[in-house]
Amino acid sequence: MKIKELFKYGRPVISLEIFPPKPESPVETILDTIDALSDLKPDFISVTYGAGGSSKSHTIEIANLIKNKYNVEALAHLTCINSKKSDIDRVLGELKGYDVDNVLALRGDLPQDGSFDFTAKRDFGYAKDLVNYIKEKNDFCIAGACYPEGHIENSDIISDLHNLKCKVDTGVDFLITQLFFDNNLFYNFKEKVDLLGIDIPISAGIMPVINKKQIERITKLCGASIPLKFRRIMDKYEYNPEALKDAGVAYATEQIIDLLSFGIDGIHLYSMNRPDIARGIFNQIENIRTVKVASSY
Ligand SMILES: Cc1cc2nc3c(=O)[nH]c(=O)nc-3n(C[C@H](O)[C@H](O)[C@H](O)COP(=O)(O)OP(=O)(O)OC[C@H]3O[C@@H](n4cnc5c(N)ncnc54)[C@H](O)[C@@H]3O)c2cc1C
Repeated sequence: MKIKELFKYGRPVISLEIFPPKPESPVETILDTIDALSDLKPDFISVTYGAGGSSKSHTIEIANLIKNKYNVEALAHLTCINSKKSDIDRVLGELKGYDVDNVLALRGDLPQDGSFDFTAKRDFGYAKDLVNYIKEKNDFCIAGACYPEGHIENSDIISDLHNLKCKVDTGVDFLITQLFFDNNLFYNFKEKVDLLGIDIPISAGIMPVINKKQIERITKLCGASIPLKFRRIMDKYEYNPEALKDAGVAYATEQIIDLLSFGIDGIHLYSMNRPDIARGIFNQIENIRTVKVASSY
């Protein structure tokens, strides 16, 4: 099933993200995690592609498991910056073979070690090129990434938004945001994309804090800001994992309830492969998640 159809039911689409095990670990090591996460009845589960050192090769296999073993809709992430058209054809062919109809079309991060050759001729320069390529040849529901605080490489927020508009116009069906910890950043962003005429559904990417160092590493890489209220929590409970977990679940839940009451189309929880954390949050929104997006009561 194409995920874009889920947004038409009028209630918020609640999804989860997982990352594959390292290449040297067998794919079976993630089965317990998917088992526990699918128990929460998410609308879909997405699986990352080569992000944070995780394996690209496992992504397709895991998307297949999510869809066909656990009967949950799967969204396979796919990056293009270092891929040839033939690589993309192979991945798309395998996904279709497994009945996975949904792809998050990404450019992928550039290597930070200065090794990236900007002058080299490549099949894909931006995510938009991948969207275009998928659209031309295949019948997938295509998701795209967006950045409430702007993409880290582009300090000009206006040009970043115009690039987003081009990507969406090329054929993106829905967007998922980068993580953010202050909902006002999202509301300001939403105002701008509305003005630009971007009217596809947007899911808010929410990451619960469970480890201070991990959040600091991720935010440094992606440029997301850490508000004072959030930093205080990390500083206060840094050395007490149980307290930090409680506070992290509470903070993320508060963010999500605020976004849902705003009428957001969807919430995408970066689960960090921690079903206990996802369960803590899902338990708090069990009744809230079924209330219609456009309804105010
Ligand atoms: C929800 C989500 C999931 C992610 N999952 C993964 C994953 O699984 N694996 C992974 O490796 N990474 C992942 N990423 C990270 C992502 O790959 C990086 O943020 C990457 O740097 C940008 O990818 P993009 O698809 O947004 O790129 P693009 O949309 O191509 O944008 C990248 C940059 O190029 C600029 N740009 C776009 N078009 C043009 C143009 N025509 N001319 C000039 N500049 C242009 C944009 O303004 C932006 O600064 C994810 C990010 C998000 C938000």
